[in-house]
Amino acid sequence: MVGPAGGRLTVWPAAVRSRYGAAVPGAPDHRQLRIAVIGAGMAGILSAIKLLEDGYDDFTVYEKADRIGGTWRENTYPGLACDVPSHLYSYSFALNPGWSRRFSPGPEIQRYFERVVDDHELDDRIRLGDEVTSLELRDGQWHLETAAGHRDVVDAVIAATGVLHHPRYPDIEGLDDFAGACFHTARWDHSVDIDGARVGMIGTGSTAIQITGAIAERVGKLVLFQRTAQWVLQAENPAYSDEELLHFRDEPETIAAMHHDLSQAFGIFANAVVDADSPEIKMIEQACLDNLEQNVHDPELRERLRPSYRAACKRLVVSPDFYDAIQHPNAELVTERIEKVEPGGVRTADGRLHELDVLVLATGFHADAFMRPMHIVGRDGVTLADAWDPRPTAYMSIAIPEFPNLFMLNGPNGPVGNFSLIEVAELQFGYIRQLLEQLRSGGIAEVSATRAATEAQDAARVEAAQQTIWVTGCRSWYLDDRGVPAVWPWSFDRFRKEMAAPDLAAYELRPR
Ligand code: NAP
Repeated sequence: MVGPAGGRLTVWPAAVRSRYGAAVPGAPDHRQLRIAVIGAGMAGILSAIKLLEDGYDDFTVYEKADRIGGTWRENTYPGLACDVPSHLYSYSFALNPGWSRRFSPGPEIQRYFERVVDDHELDDRIRLGDEVTSLELRDGQWHLETAAGHRDVVDAVIAATGVLHHPRYPDIEGLDDFAGACFHTARWDHSVDIDGARVGMIGTGSTAIQITGAIAERVGKLVLFQRTAQWVLQAENPAYSDEELLHFRDEPETIAAMHHDLSQAFGIFANAVVDADSPEIKMIEQACLDNLEQNVHDPELRERLRPSYRAACKRLVVSPDFYDAIQHPNAELVTERIEKVEPGGVRTADGRLHELDVLVLATGFHADAFMRPMHIVGRDGVTLADAWDPRPTAYMSIAIPEFPNLFMLNGPNGPVGNFSLIEVAELQFGYIRQLLEQLRSGGIAEVSATRAATEAQDAARVEAAQQTIWVTGCRSWYLDDRGVPAVWPWSFDRFRKEMAAPDLAAYELRPR
């Protein structure tokens, strides 16, 4: 018996043997698998490329929208960028010498993904405008249905449906009565002219901070409604010079080295946030404090911008220009509580009406939706709604008990900190491909995480989360309904190790 070798299972792993003994055929027989990938964003595109690389030819990527791109298609707000450096926020197999800046703008990232799709000739594999609404497990296969009525029967499903894609609208009295234009940041209305307009924005997360930097000079007035102050890490965003771009093009090993070095550097950050007492987190706190002290000149404004919780407790905001922008004469920071919205603007608790033409809701997303609202029925009629009541969970953030052969990328409780979700998804796919191999060549019909392994891991995760910076006293979308961080609470190195090969003892493997 031989276990995982070079990332592929060549012969039976001991766990399978011991579980099924003689019931497992001795010689693995190869079979074709039909696979559905749901979502043509970063993780779905990755899946398609890797499936082809592994010789899976019979798969379809279902995409609800009429374009690929996921978050980079949905978000088009001014100032949209990725605050993970572009040379890290790239597929490791499709490094891009042409990134224009350290943190390239959103439309450039969208073009990058479109080019990757073209380069890998994926167009024919992707069904655009075909939203999967239902998945039901019957006789070991997933029966899929789309909103358009299309049906498919597949052996395995890869859900690459993204994390932050269902806008969260604030529950503020009178919001519907606003007479001007009002929209969520992920539904930016480009027909509305903001130049010279009086624009109000609710929220001070990463999104609002990017928008503030981009529009403060353009608008007539920007009123930023802050409920909670943010720690902001200053990060310059220089454009690459022509010489640098030529160098990146001619010496590809340079960008490979940058990708590697940035990954290491972000690993330090990832390890810092899971240990609230680490020296690294103290350095991050100091850097944020220095930024506030040195770059906000009016002491009164500085105090209103000073958070009362520890840096990186909320998802850390990285910006080259937020403090400059909020000190621009056009900009006003309002920290009074919002009382209600009226046709003419926003009224705060001090009785003041902030008159506005446009109201932008930078109020974030429902971070616990994942594959939902898809209707998903696993073994014995168990629905995903039942399985995820009261909150979503998954073994290794990839597999769910009673939902065999259904694998998630960037699923519940995975690493979502300030690092590259591309790197996370690549590592997760490396794990999933080994489970798929069980189905293709391992004589296995169904692979699903055991309940025992899932529950044990979840209990360990909840306990480990108590050491992290995320529980040190702030409100954030990382926290679930109990206030427990719904994210990977261990080091990034541990994540890499876990993803290197599935522990098959944590899985139920039903033979064919
Ligand atoms: P967010 O971080 O969840 O921020 C939402 C903001 O809205 C918070 O400031 C929140 O205040 C405020 N808010 C919500 N409801 C409110 C209400 N009823 N009244 C007043 N204020 C209210 O959302 P986001 O900025 O869209 O960012 C979400 C995540 O997307 C980020 O954390 C990040 O992971 C990702 N993102 C990444 C990038 C990037 O460059 N990589 C860029 C943008 C976003 P409280 O703080 O008081 O709750």
